[in-house]
Amino acid sequence: MASGEKFDCIVVGAGPAGTTCAYTLAKAGLSVVLLERGEKPGSKNVMGGILYSTILNKVIPNFWEEAPVERRIVQKKFSVLSDDSELQLAMRFEDFNKPPYNNTFSVLRGKFDAWYASKAEEAGVMILNEAVVDKVIVENGKAVGVKTRLEDGDLFADTIVIAEGVTSLLAQGLGLREKHIPEHMVTCCKEVIELPKETIEQRFNLDGDEGASLEYFGGSVKGLVGSAFIYTNKDTVSIGVGVSTNDLKNNKLTPNDIIESFKEHPSIKRYIKGGKLLEYSAHMIPEFGYDHLPKLTMDGLIIAGDAAGFVNMNPLYHEGSNLAMASGLAAAETIIEARKNNDFSEKGLAGYRKRLESSFVLKDLKRYKGISNFALKHPEFFKEYPELIIELAQDFFTVSETPKGQSRMNVIKKGLKRVNLLKLAIGMNRARKVMF
Ligand SMILES: Cc1cc2nc3c(=O)[nH]c(=O)nc-3n(C[C@H](O)[C@H](O)[C@H](O)COP(=O)(O)OP(=O)(O)OC[C@H]3O[C@@H](n4cnc5c(N)ncnc54)[C@H](O)[C@@H]3O)c2cc1C
Repeated sequence: MASGEKFDCIVVGAGPAGTTCAYTLAKAGLSVVLLERGEKPGSKNVMGGILYSTILNKVIPNFWEEAPVERRIVQKKFSVLSDDSELQLAMRFEDFNKPPYNNTFSVLRGKFDAWYASKAEEAGVMILNEAVVDKVIVENGKAVGVKTRLEDGDLFADTIVIAEGVTSLLAQGLGLREKHIPEHMVTCCKEVIELPKETIEQRFNLDGDEGASLEYFGGSVKGLVGSAFIYTNKDTVSIGVGVSTNDLKNNKLTPNDIIESFKEHPSIKRYIKGGKLLEYSAHMIPEFGYDHLPKLTMDGLIIAGDAAGFVNMNPLYHEGSNLAMASGLAAAETIIEARKNNDFSEKGLAGYRKRLESSFVLKDLKRYKGISNFALKHPEFFKEYPELIIELAQDFFTVSETPKGQSRMNVIKKGLKRVNLLKLAIGMNRARKVMF
């Protein structure tokens, strides 16, 4: 490759957004270079580990037959924790054991991203690893290339796709995105813990390649706004916590404090007992919400994936991978269209936003845009209520010689004493509106 070489498209970042875009463009016959700052795709990426794959299954049908997925998720569990107890809703669906496996797989990004990038390379994408992009080159208001730290230096293209993930310094440098503020960020940390395959299957009640996703609220993150998770892989489990950056700052806690106390909880430690820590990583999740999205395009440039804040904030889903891939695909389709019309201006790229608005990406972001605000205004849903509901459940099921009618009445009285019914009704109604 020569310095100053021109491509149809330069994609920055080989995560799910960038690789989907690059792969699709190369399949359509465009010349594409994919620049990744890590030593290989996946080496810098952090994800809890559930890959939602409706888009990937369109891009590479039946991808699971060859992709390094860990387990198909057939069990889903949601729990609230108090300091030492748990209340759980558990689900298992036999249909999720059949293709396309509910498009939900646990993955380890180090393996998965490397495989996905290799498919892009087979399709004709030029992948340059250890290629840090420092700046987008703009001429007369149009993005025309990028400045890299490679020996060959500057590269040029008709369009640039910024898919560099949550920090997105390039988009900030162009003035397309505001500097991130703690209110719009979740700080996470995650560990990968090795356990024998049979131990995982026995502890999580799984058969063969079946997997489980377990999500925890309330005391799992010391009652802060956030949640924790355990996802089963083949012979490891991914365990992590994600907490509002603002809440961490205000409570003078670190993500490490939270994950350590989560791992010590009696309901959790039995899952990871005897395991060996293989990986520890920390990362952020963007939760800008629909009303704080960056400007998604400019002349010659599109922003996709986490760089644009495309993460579904609803804690029931924790979905970023599918939105990243959907936006990468929408970016590629828009660029193919722009090339046909020979118009790479902002107007020529306007189809990008339209595609996203008509897909689940922006529909879901719009639907759940009130979640952050709800969490800020109703901290009782993260601490007070989970603790109370567990206490009441324990009282209800504690065996005694008190007649059942009397003990039921005692539970109701205790609940009524501790909860303002009007506040609860207003909160529940708001929760319903923002989450369902
Ligand atoms: C702890 C945690 C748990 C999560 N759990 C889930 C989950 O279970 N399911 C789910 O769907 N989503 C989850 N997410 C969100 C999900 O990981 C992201 O939404 C998704 O990875 C976004 O993909 P992306 O391609 O936009 O960005 P990324 O995956 O972040 O990829 C960006 C790439 O760009 C590269 N890059 C950055 N800057 C430069 C530069 N200047 N030059 C060159 N390359 C650069 C990076 O090295 C990286 O490879 C989780 C996130 C975290 C942090």
